[in-house]
Amino acid sequence: MYIGGRWTPSSGGEVFGAINPATTKVIAHLALGTREDAGRAVEAAWAARAVMAQMTVAERARLLLRVADVMEARRESLARVLSEDQGKPYHSEALPEVDVAVNGLRETAGAAKFLESTGVTVADPNKRVWSFRQPRGVYAVVTPWNFPINIPLEYIGPGLAMGNTIAWVPAPTTTLCAVRLMECFVEAGTPPGALNLVTGMGPVVGNEIVKHPLTAAVGFTGSPQTGRHIAREAAGKPLLLELGGNGPTIVLDDADIERASAAIAGASFFNAGQICSATERILAGPAAYEAVIEGLVAAAGRLRMGSPLDPATTLGPLNNADVAAKTDRHIADSLARGAVVLCGGSRATGHGSPLFYQPTVIGQVRPEMEFNIEETFGPVAPVIRANSDEELLAIANNSRYGLVASVWTKDLKRAFYFGEHLRTGIVNVNESSAYWETNIPFGGMSGTQSGLGRLGGRHTLDAMSDLKTVVFDLG
Ligand code: NAD
Repeated sequence: MYIGGRWTPSSGGEVFGAINPATTKVIAHLALGTREDAGRAVEAAWAARAVMAQMTVAERARLLLRVADVMEARRESLARVLSEDQGKPYHSEALPEVDVAVNGLRETAGAAKFLESTGVTVADPNKRVWSFRQPRGVYAVVTPWNFPINIPLEYIGPGLAMGNTIAWVPAPTTTLCAVRLMECFVEAGTPPGALNLVTGMGPVVGNEIVKHPLTAAVGFTGSPQTGRHIAREAAGKPLLLELGGNGPTIVLDDADIERASAAIAGASFFNAGQICSATERILAGPAAYEAVIEGLVAAAGRLRMGSPLDPATTLGPLNNADVAAKTDRHIADSLARGAVVLCGGSRATGHGSPLFYQPTVIGQVRPEMEFNIEETFGPVAPVIRANSDEELLAIANNSRYGLVASVWTKDLKRAFYFGEHLRTGIVNVNESSAYWETNIPFGGMSGTQSGLGRLGGRHTLDAMSDLKTVVFDLG
């Protein structure tokens, strides 16, 4: 752990193993943090508030640029640990994730420098009113394991840029990535206490940092269940919650099916399906249904499963046993209710780990099956057939999730119909649900379980700062 500018073991003296999901071998031992450690991290962040708040925006931006430079210099070693700790293919996914993260830090540094303050027009002729952004103070940041380099930086970059200090708890199954990332911040000269890394179990150290009285606000990406728990524990604090999705993808009869099915397969199988914006259910019109399935099965056949470090590999193992078991359950549920496996359908043997899962396409899926109700997070493309645009929309919207949707059509009017009526934070037209860039406002629709607030570009800078107003009387 890294607390108050020093590397430190757990106060309880215990460690836990980092397991390579492709081999099931322990690749490192990490500090099992206690509530006391988490409390010390928040106190260290509290003590460093003035240092960060007093740094100019230009100085904070330069700090982020130095971190980006250190990360770029360590590009290959960061990608390697990301591949070994998380399971994603080194060449096709881990290197690009490091590149995206470096680029994101640089964009954040640039965007922070160009924030503007506002003069507010009021009725009183003697008043001058000025609104501007200030740091909130200590941020609790809790992050998941699916993009363990990029997602933490989506909070840490803007959080520091706006002058906050941070206590950060990463996911237990990708903690080694977090340690390597923290080393980059140390090397870049981050002031002691500005960023503190607490490793260990979420219900212990994560819970402690979000509910701690010295924590001003919380940034969290993870499951809706943990998000709800955090919202209760942090009641009254500003929250930025990026939660799950169950990406509905609608393929209309007039779509370019070949292009659609290749893109959909990419969004269902990338990172072995472990993306909040993955295509997790495909809703096809009657004339599109068979052709979409054919395209998905062909795309699944082109994937190369194997060691994440092999340059030819495009599909690695799932990250952990829980997500593999959930994928098993969802497939079994659909088969018990009459769906059919068109390819894959179970774990892959012969790769040295039970976490490898065959890319799977399931047909004759019905709205009452788990695939349509609950996020799966595995390499599965379940296809539902529906008869009209209204029926497709109704199935897509009858969901507790509302993160990203995708619709494929050549008809502008139908594209607008779905774009305006799909109940998700983002709708991608003729693009997969997984398309994303760092400055797109990303987040769930209100009233769903997909989260609260928007991440991305200027939006995170606003979300991670307070709006302060000063009124001058000249009378
Ligand atoms: P998770 O909720 O199990 O864990 C996320 C983090 O929360 C981990 O660091 C964990 O240690 C911590 N945690 C667990 N219990 C806690 C508690 N009681 N108090 C505080 N912290 C606690 O989620 P996960 O399995 O790591 O990630 C997968 C989920 O994340 C999926 O639902 C996925 O859709 C979602 N996700 C969303 C986005 C987005 O931007 N919307 C991006 C990536 C992942």
